[in-house]
Amino acid sequence: MGLTYLFITHDLSVVKHISDEIMVMYLGKCVEKAPAEEIFRNPVHPYTKALLAAIPIPSIESCHKRRTLLQGEVTSPINPKLGCRFAARCPLAKESCRTGEMPLVEVSPGHFSACPVQG
Ligand code: SF4
Repeated sequence: MGLTYLFITHDLSVVKHISDEIMVMYLGKCVEKAPAEEIFRNPVHPYTKALLAAIPIPSIESCHKRRTLLQGEVTSPINPKLGCRFAARCPLAKESCRTGEMPLVEVSPGHFSACPVQG
């Protein structure tokens, strides 16, 4: 129909059902971008993984599963430090993450990530 929606939310479970492409942003920066199926099948950025882990699962069994909780402080969006803006909360952060900009790099066709570590 030649129609485009830009849908902004923190709830990736909703995004999955209405999106062709997903761009994940953290403090104003794109950290991962890929077709919707690819983001859910093969997330590579630690922040995307944390968002996916936060999706509620409506079953009794899942109530007992441990959730991944992000630790650390949210970096100030007014005066962000050099380096990856997610570094203060990232379980995989290295010293090199705090020294320069993290550009989006194509990790597979059409799938871009701003994390060179990608554990
Ligand atoms: S660049 Fe470093 S701090 Fe940022 S998401 Fe990747 S591992 Fe974590």
